[in-house]
Amino acid sequence: MKILIVDDDANSRRLLAVNLAFGGHTVVEAVDGQSAWELFQCERQRLVITDWKMPGLDGMGLVRLIRSTQSEGYTYIIMLTALGAKPQVITGLEAGADDYLTKPFDPDELLARVTIGQRILQLEERLMDSRRQMEVLAMHDTLTGLFNRRAIQDRALAELNRLARGATGAHLSVVLLDIDRFKHINDNHGHEAGDRALRLVADLLAQQLRSYDFVGRWGGEEFLLLLPGAGAAEACAAAERIRDGLAQTVVPVEGGGVTLTASLGVATLGVTASGPAPGGGEPWLDRLVRAADQALYQAKHSGRNRVCVAGELSAV
Ligand code: GH3
Ligand code: MG
Ligand code: MG
Repeated sequence: MKILIVDDDANSRRLLAVNLAFGGHTVVEAVDGQSAWELFQCERQRLVITDWKMPGLDGMGLVRLIRSTQSEGYTYIIMLTALGAKPQVITGLEAGADDYLTKPFDPDELLARVTIGQRILQLEERLMDSRRQMEVLAMHDTLTGLFNRRAIQDRALAELNRLARGATGAHLSVVLLDIDRFKHINDNHGHEAGDRALRLVADLLAQQLRSYDFVGRWGGEEFLLLLPGAGAAEACAAAERIRDGLAQTVVPVEGGGVTLTASLGVATLGVTASGPAPGGGEPWLDRLVRAADQALYQAKHSGRNRVCVAGELSAV
């Protein structure tokens, strides 16, 4: 791995570099604490081997600086110094070094201790990986891969906050989509076919959206689309495109295929010159979703397979 070695003595650096190269590592060299700190800030090497006594910023100062930074991954620091008395070792470890070696070092011991550092860094990487995976899982619906309800709500609140800081005339639209007579698919073709249909709808929605739009599974066979910057007319056009695309989609089922339709309700929030911006998003989100839900209800009751629009809400 790539290791930052810090020593003001050229011979010590060379000896260290040669031995580390022998162990399959590459090195970045710094001649004192200050230049090491500058290198570290650019590249954040994960493993650092530093001398203690150096002019200017010494090894102890460098360790403290590295430990004071908030970085994504951990930095494993080995102190390598001629100062080998017990109190010095303790001081070095207490300052934040992970390991302490004295000069002259034994090459095999050095490589063994670097391996310990690598092991700890790998362990940390695995933990971070699984945390990232958990975060992804916590935000996504397992069946469709779309954002789940909680995640799309969070996204909507973030967009509302953005809108609050935005200019007068800015808009945010939401579209609530509910598949028509979805229960029939389950009843007539089985739950599996129903799941397949939900995935197909999710794929179609994801394909239809602009890169700055968002879509989530709101529940069962309902989806919520978030269209930042879209006014009512634009949101209606998008909803109409989706409705049309869906009506042409065939879900493969045993012995053929079934077509799907959906009803969509559109609601838009606009920032007016007179009113306060819709900060503190939550009540606004409720109002928007409720308005979209009422429009959706209207779409269902006027025959399904259609788009209905709620009157534009204004932040006044
Ligand atoms: P409407 O046109 O009025 O919306 O009728 P609908 O049949 O679509 O609505 P209803 O609310 O009566 O039924 C929704 C069905 O969706 C019932 C439920 O079993 C089904 N459903 C919800 N989640 C899932 C799922 O994850 N997979 C499958 N296969 N079905 C689901
Ligand atoms: Mg429903
Ligand atoms: Mg339905």
